[in-house]
Amino acid sequence: MRIRTRFAPSPTGYLHVGGARTALFSWLYARRHGGEFILRVEDTDRERSTAESVDAILEGMSWLGLDYDQGPFFQSERFPRYREVVQRLLDSGHAYHCYCSKERLETLRAGQMANKQKPRYDGHCRPSCSRAVHALRDIRPSMAKSAVPAGATDAPVVRFRNPADGEVVMEDAIRGRIAFQNAELDDLIIARGDGTPTYNLTVVVDDSDMEISHVIRGDDHINNTPRQINIIRALGLEPPIYAHVPMILGDDGQRLSKRHGAVSVVEYRKQGYLPEALLNYLVRLGWSHGDQEIFSLDEMVALFDLEDVNRAASAFNTEKLVWLNQHYLKTADPAHVARYFGMHLGEMGIDPDAGPELTEVVMAQRERAKTLIEMAENSVFFYQDFEAFDAKAAQKHLRPVIGAALAMLKERLQALDSWTAPAIHQEVVDLAEEMDLKLGKLAQPLRVAVSGRGFSPPIDITLELVGKRRSLERLDKALKFIEDRASSA
Ligand code: GLU
Repeated sequence: MRIRTRFAPSPTGYLHVGGARTALFSWLYARRHGGEFILRVEDTDRERSTAESVDAILEGMSWLGLDYDQGPFFQSERFPRYREVVQRLLDSGHAYHCYCSKERLETLRAGQMANKQKPRYDGHCRPSCSRAVHALRDIRPSMAKSAVPAGATDAPVVRFRNPADGEVVMEDAIRGRIAFQNAELDDLIIARGDGTPTYNLTVVVDDSDMEISHVIRGDDHINNTPRQINIIRALGLEPPIYAHVPMILGDDGQRLSKRHGAVSVVEYRKQGYLPEALLNYLVRLGWSHGDQEIFSLDEMVALFDLEDVNRAASAFNTEKLVWLNQHYLKTADPAHVARYFGMHLGEMGIDPDAGPELTEVVMAQRERAKTLIEMAENSVFFYQDFEAFDAKAAQKHLRPVIGAALAMLKERLQALDSWTAPAIHQEVVDLAEEMDLKLGKLAQPLRVAVSGRGFSPPIDITLELVGKRRSLERLDKALKFIEDRASSA
C-alpha cells in the first residue's frame, strides 16, 4: 500500500502541542514507510479562519522541521469540487434538502433535552426512502425528493441520509475495533444554506481525492468517523485506515489548555526551547519504545509505529520538557544551538556580531542553561558593556581589601601577549599564590568586574571570550568602584 498521511489543521488559532503531536505522528508514519506527508488547511469556516493562524501553523511546522511533500492545500479553494460531490449525493438519493427553520430545530432540541434525550435531527425533511431504492424499483425519482414546504423562505441545507439501521465498524490502528449503531446517528448537514460544505463532507472528499491511506488525528474525531465512513460508502469509496490519538491532559488531569501555560508551538520557540527537545517530548507523549527517553529524529523515524501509541490520554509535564531541552542544549552540535541562540540575542535587541563567536559562548554556557532564553540572558555581558555591577555581587566581592590585588592582576593581564584561557588562568593562580589568597578570593572579584555579575562560565574562559580590551576596561571600572567605596567609607 502506498502510505500517504496528512495533517489537516483548522486555522482558527495557534498551532498547539496537541496538533503538533498529531502532525509529528503523521509525519513519522509517512517517513518511516517511505510514504508521503500532506499538509491541508481546513479553512472552510470563513468566519473563524485567519491568515495569522495559517502563518502560525506554517511557522510552527517549519521550526519543528515537519516538512510536507504536498501542500499546503486550502479547502477554501476547493468549493466547486465539494459542490459537485454534494450534488452527486443528492442525485443518488444519499442526501436531501432540509427546509426546517431554525425555530423548528430549536423547539425540537429543547423538547428532546427536556425529555432527557440526546438532541438529534428527527428526519422531518428526510424522504421516506432513498431515490436509489426508487430507481431500483423503477419508481419516479421525484417521489422521493423532499418537497419544498409552502412558505419556506430560508435556503435549504443539505443533509446526508444516514442509513437508518445496521452498524458501522472501524478497525482503529490505535484503539482497535469500534462499532457504532446507525440508529444513534442522525442526518448530518453536509452543506449549509449558503452552499458552503461542512467538515464531515470536505474531509471525506479530500482524504479520498488526496489518496490518504492513514488518517491519524485526535480522538475528539472518533464520533465523526462513522458518519464519514457512511458518506464514503455512499460515494462508492473505501475508507482509509484510521488512527485516533488520545488527547493530552494538563498536570491537573484536565484537557490541556492555555491555563496550563504555553500550549502554542511558537510560544515554546519564544521561551527558548530547541525544536528537537519539543519533538522528543511530543513523540514520548503517548508513544514509547521500551523505556528509552531520548530519541534523535532518525531514531524516531526508524522506530515509530502506530501500534505502540498508548490508548490512554497522556499528561503534559513541563519539567520533563525542560530536562530534554537541557539535554539537547548540552549535547547537540554547538553550531546548531548557536543559530537559535543568536536568534534569541537578536530578539533581545543584542547584536550577535558585537562579541565573541556564538558557538564559543554556547560551549561555555550550555552546562548551566535550561533554555536558550536563560543562556541569552546570561550572555548579554559578552556582547554589551553594562552600566552597573550587580549590586549584591559588587557589595560582596568588590571590596576595598581586594583592591590592591585586583589592580596588580590587571597589570599582569595587561602584559599578557596571548589572551587565552590557559594563560589567563596561570596569571590568576600565580598571583593568588604570591599574595596568599584562596583562588576564589581573587577569581570572584575578577568575575564580578568583568561580567558584572556573581556567576559566569569559568573565569578564564569568560575573560578570553570577553576579550582583552573589554576585560581591562571593565577591570578599571571595578577598581574605580572599589576606590569610590573606600573613600566614601
Ligand atoms: N480540521 C480538523 C481539526 O483541526 C481535522 C480533523 C481531521 O484530521 O480529520 O480538528
